[in-house]
Amino acid sequence: MTTSAKARIIAVANQKGGVAKTTSVASIGAALADLGQRVLLVDLDPQACLTFSLGYDPETLERSVHQVLLGEVKAAEVLIETEEGPVLLPATIELATAEQQLLMRTGREQLLKAALAPLARQFDVILLDCPPSLGILTTLAMTAASGVLIPLQCETLSHRGVGQLLDTVYDVKRMTNRRLKVIGVLPTLFDSRTNHSRLVLDRIGADYGIDVVGPPIPKSVRFAEAPAAGRSILATARSSKGAAAYREVAQALLGTETAATT
Ligand code: ADP
Ligand code: MG
Repeated sequence: MTTSAKARIIAVANQKGGVAKTTSVASIGAALADLGQRVLLVDLDPQACLTFSLGYDPETLERSVHQVLLGEVKAAEVLIETEEGPVLLPATIELATAEQQLLMRTGREQLLKAALAPLARQFDVILLDCPPSLGILTTLAMTAASGVLIPLQCETLSHRGVGQLLDTVYDVKRMTNRRLKVIGVLPTLFDSRTNHSRLVLDRIGADYGIDVVGPPIPKSVRFAEAPAAGRSILATARSSKGAAAYREVAQALLGTETAATT
């Protein structure tokens, strides 16, 4: 009998919306599942885009990560299967009220970490899809995670948000999770026809001393088709450049694991 190690938990975070956090969680999750990893995806955005894009209508779900955070149910009771292999801990719109409801709870930063702990040996990787803010839900994710992956659209002003995000990482390290590491930046919506994207990327790497993970994910209309199909681009456009890029990112992430534990 093999004893399985504890799941590695990765928060996919950036307070900016539309930078492909959710797309990256769904695509990397599917790619890791293809590589034989047992993957759990956690939707921490009240907009529930991840839940929707994996084939579930959030409005028909009775329970979600919201009730888990409030301590009403165990995470294991809320898990649902997806077509592509990863298991999903879904979100519903009620999650928008979590911040308010958790305000008075002592130790609230630890709630997600504690909720996921019983699942640690059931999965190899747990990816947390953060909302577009640096509020309590992102703090919960960073407190539960060992690493943060930062999807970044390489535009002129994108570096301004990175400083703020790193400040939050630093606060979490100081207050609730000393072992938290920045895995790196994942360049998304990358337009190789412009020099501009490459310049922004080099600049961010140099200014903040952050690694760049995997190849940049190319901008492609194929990504628009996937969510409505309830699948990621790995299923809807298997041989596209976008799918290939996410497969490489998944491989690279598995590589950073050994680096992180030694
Ligand atoms: P976030 O979770 O950061 O808000 P999403 O993953 O929801 O971002 O992506 C925002 C929008 O961009 C979605 O409509 C998605 O389909 C689209 N998108 C994501 N990645 C790409 C890409 N590489 N090329 C083109 N469109 C993309
Ligand atoms: Mg999102």
